[in-house]
Amino acid sequence: MSVLVYVNNYGGTIHKNAFEAVAYGKVIADKLNTEVHAALFGPVDNPDQLGAYGASKVFYNSSATFSNHDPSAITAALSEVVASQGSEVVVFSHDYTGKSVAPRLAARLKAGLVSGAIDIPNTDSGFVVKKAVFSGKAFADVEIMSDKKIISVLPNSLEYSKGEGKAEVVSLTGDAQASGVSVKEIKKESSKLSLNEAEIVVSGGRGLRGPENWGMVEELADLLGAATACSRPVADIDWRPHHEHVGQTGLAIRPNLYIAIGISGAIQHLAGVNGSKVIVVINTDPEAPFFKAADYGIIGDAFQVVPKLIEAAKAL
Ligand SMILES: Cc1cc2nc3c(=O)[nH]c(=O)nc-3n(C[C@H](O)[C@H](O)[C@H](O)COP(=O)(O)OP(=O)(O)OC[C@H]3O[C@@H](n4cnc5c(N)ncnc54)[C@H](O)[C@@H]3O)c2cc1C
Repeated sequence: MSVLVYVNNYGGTIHKNAFEAVAYGKVIADKLNTEVHAALFGPVDNPDQLGAYGASKVFYNSSATFSNHDPSAITAALSEVVASQGSEVVVFSHDYTGKSVAPRLAARLKAGLVSGAIDIPNTDSGFVVKKAVFSGKAFADVEIMSDKKIISVLPNSLEYSKGEGKAEVVSLTGDAQASGVSVKEIKKESSKLSLNEAEIVVSGGRGLRGPENWGMVEELADLLGAATACSRPVADIDWRPHHEHVGQTGLAIRPNLYIAIGISGAIQHLAGVNGSKVIVVINTDPEAPFFKAADYGIIGDAFQVVPKLIEAAKAL
């Protein structure tokens, strides 16, 4: 019996969300008096680095045939590791791959699945996982009653730190199973910092009037080490790329700090950002709905406020 964490890698690099998922699995394993193992498919330097986040073993298949992120192939390979290790709990990061592989694995294993968990499961009585529901307006405590349990954890749900250890690497062989799906092209995000992983996000809406005014958003983001995001209409009218669109129909993010500039705060936008730890809103309209969700609000013109924030950030 063990906890198994699926660790995604992009082009050989393991990202922060995957480290967080391993650390999350380690907390569960400690509660269940067992070990946390990781499954890693596709070529990566130093797979043993996952030991620093709590994994005692890494089941590692270095075949480049996994680099396409084909969810069916990953599901098939992962279910073999689950079967060989008798893993009771399987953890994913709630990222693109986690969202597509976790339900497939749950169907295959007849396992209960909680997607988008935001806290460590309560194992005092049963196995109860907290998740946000109704676009973040409420929380649900969901009990998983099946023998096998699957969880995908929302990024930035857990405070964790990097330790020292190295994991034992168990090499697996074989190529990814052909699934009838062929990946024709992988387009890499052009932004400097992944929106999903950013701790600070500076976001702009239609109040910025046009793409030519995004220079100040980008400058502020650069100074703060932040990623940039936008409201949906801004992406729809091509002021910004679609991968920056956050909300109900875009990305759901949970940064430590979300700065919303010229965004009204429609419920569909809030659905993607109301898990942020601190929200700062800059808007000319004191009645803008976003102020109700804000921790700090600045009633003012973005074209005057943002340059002052940039000055202050430079002075810092
Ligand atoms: C099914 C459905 C799904 C949707 N999904 C999403 C989604 O995922 N994400 C999303 O964002 N939207 C989504 N929407 C759209 C959503 O309802 C809003 O229309 C959208 O969020 C509004 O974008 P906005 O705030 O940028 O623009 P606006 O509503 O036009 O607001 C602009 C704001 O800027 C302020 N402003 C103007 N000038 C300035 C200035 N100089 N300085 C400071 N502030 C200024 C204004 O006071 C206003 O509050 C969805 C809608 C539907 C129906």
